[in-house]
Amino acid sequence: MAGNGECVAIGIDLGTTYSCVGVWLQQQERVEIIVNEQGNRTTPSYVAFTAAERLIGEGAKNQVAMNATNTIFDAKRLIGRRFNDELVQSDMKVWPFKVVVGQGDKPMIEVTYKDEQKQFAAEEISSMVLLKMREIAEAFLGSTVKKAVVTVPAYFNDSQRQATKDAGDVAGLNVMSILNEPTAAAIAYGLEKNAGSDIYKNVLIFDLGGGTFDVSLLTMKQGVFEVKATTGDTHLGGEDFDNRMVKYFVEEFKRRQKKNIEGSPKALRRLRTACERAKRYLSLTTETSIEIDCLFEGIDFSTTVTRARFENMNMDLFKECMELVEKCLTDANVSKSSIHDVVLVGGSARIPKVQQMLQDLFNGKELCKRINPDEAVAYGAAVRAAILGGNATKQIQDLVLLDVTPLSLGTSVEDGVMSVLVPRNTSIPTKKEQTFTTTQDNQTSILIDVYQGERTRVSDNHFLGEFHFANIPPAPARSPTIKVCFEIDANGILHVSAEDKATRQTGGITITNENARLSKAEIDRMLQEAVKYRAEDEELKKKTEAKNALEVYVYKLKDAILDQNITTKLSLAQKRETEDAIEEAIQWLDCSRFSEVLEFEEKQHYLENIWNPIITKIYE
Ligand code: ADP
Ligand code: MG
Repeated sequence: MAGNGECVAIGIDLGTTYSCVGVWLQQQERVEIIVNEQGNRTTPSYVAFTAAERLIGEGAKNQVAMNATNTIFDAKRLIGRRFNDELVQSDMKVWPFKVVVGQGDKPMIEVTYKDEQKQFAAEEISSMVLLKMREIAEAFLGSTVKKAVVTVPAYFNDSQRQATKDAGDVAGLNVMSILNEPTAAAIAYGLEKNAGSDIYKNVLIFDLGGGTFDVSLLTMKQGVFEVKATTGDTHLGGEDFDNRMVKYFVEEFKRRQKKNIEGSPKALRRLRTACERAKRYLSLTTETSIEIDCLFEGIDFSTTVTRARFENMNMDLFKECMELVEKCLTDANVSKSSIHDVVLVGGSARIPKVQQMLQDLFNGKELCKRINPDEAVAYGAAVRAAILGGNATKQIQDLVLLDVTPLSLGTSVEDGVMSVLVPRNTSIPTKKEQTFTTTQDNQTSILIDVYQGERTRVSDNHFLGEFHFANIPPAPARSPTIKVCFEIDANGILHVSAEDKATRQTGGITITNENARLSKAEIDRMLQEAVKYRAEDEELKKKTEAKNALEVYVYKLKDAILDQNITTKLSLAQKRETEDAIEEAIQWLDCSRFSEVLEFEEKQHYLENIWNPIITKIYE
């Protein structure tokens, strides 16, 4: 227990495949990456629904082979996107779970939960993962956690950021800040340390995770990080390395046993799990073994794999990573030699070959890898959370860091040209104003549309939302003065408003951030449901405990009546009565999955009422 009291703020790296949570321990002046109930420092971003329960994290991932259509992962690929988004459409083709179109072109995940069909928004699934991370932290701290900093990729647009914040709300967390993942990693290494000085630093963040690869080039000056360039591949990461190994062993099995396991999803899943584990070992040792009992048609599979073999299987993918690093440098027009720090992030950046290739690319430069790569983002988020939550000691308080807008924000003017109000890399929070006017005589309303991006024409940029500013008093063209204000709060979230200078009328506008954004009512509904689901989870836990208690008791009785010291003292009738009661209880337990706590307790009382008088008599 850290005993940090009520108001501790945590840092959460909400990953596509794995999530991680950290907290700043004030007394010890360090970040603790918190382990989950299995003792692991990262937790799968998985949520599963079954006939009886909802599982989040390890439990969800472990049962995926049996329940593929109701086990949800990759929610981060959906969050804040429209159903018709190209990426959503292509991802959907490979997901085993179903995604349908909801209101406002919002993608909805459809599952069967407790024998009922249910739809969830990506925010809701992410909120469940966030809730799990919150619970992991609460178990460690021994107190309620209500505040968090949550990280997102640098390239996330406004709606993706807002949706992530909404997910936090639904998980009962006040998201104090949405932080860029590469910025968080840089903070973890204290790379902003000479804040205040004019020294300019270039930092390259190499983030190779489970399913995504992101390279970001940050520049740091006076404690402010700017994202200069981001590149990467949305489908390149640890899972590809696992797949390569799976393919390799499928072939080996074919060769050795003349059987193809590809037709069995369960066998493939078990092989994949074993491969992922072997891959992790190979980051530490140069050879490891794989043993799977009854992999296929009762045949065991036992083999070994070397690090060299693994590297060989994936060399083209590793090379691709290096090429993308080069591309990032070219995009930002920065030479390798002017990079001050190279930071390793993401679980797959633990692979020795990847580290070596990256180091070679930078002519032998030492890489920042003191912090475990898959924990660096949560580490930085925890530091930021401590600063914002007022929990920080002087040591880190100095590092009050500012974030910047990753992309320019603006509105369209004549001929569809983008007029930028907030240029990219502006420190946030920020407020920018610009005046606009009408183009026609007696025009009483204007359309204010909001775009994000660097292209000249709005049609090439990302549309965020629009609103009509009406009730402008009729006047000749170009005479009204409409002041438009773009305001970005500390979370990187944009509010747009307009005011007619003449009438002082303010246009009440709220950017709906794509129709796909959740409304207040929807968030409230999800919050209520989240509370309900949590209560159900609790109830299930109680049921499981009651069931276990009954099972323990039944088997204790069974042992007792087999015990010579006891049985010899029982009458035949007593023995038969007890045996019958035990047998009946065992049968009842077998089909009692959906029974209530009370029923388990009643059953136990029933047995106790038979047994207690007998046993007390014996020992009288
Ligand atoms: P995300 O991409 O969701 O942010 P992570 O950064 O935690 O998640 O990366 C998860 C990936 O890292 C998984 O594919 C996992 O197998 C891989 N990984 C974790 N530890 C190691 C290791 N020691 N060696 C190689 N790969 C690892
Ligand atoms: Mg990550």
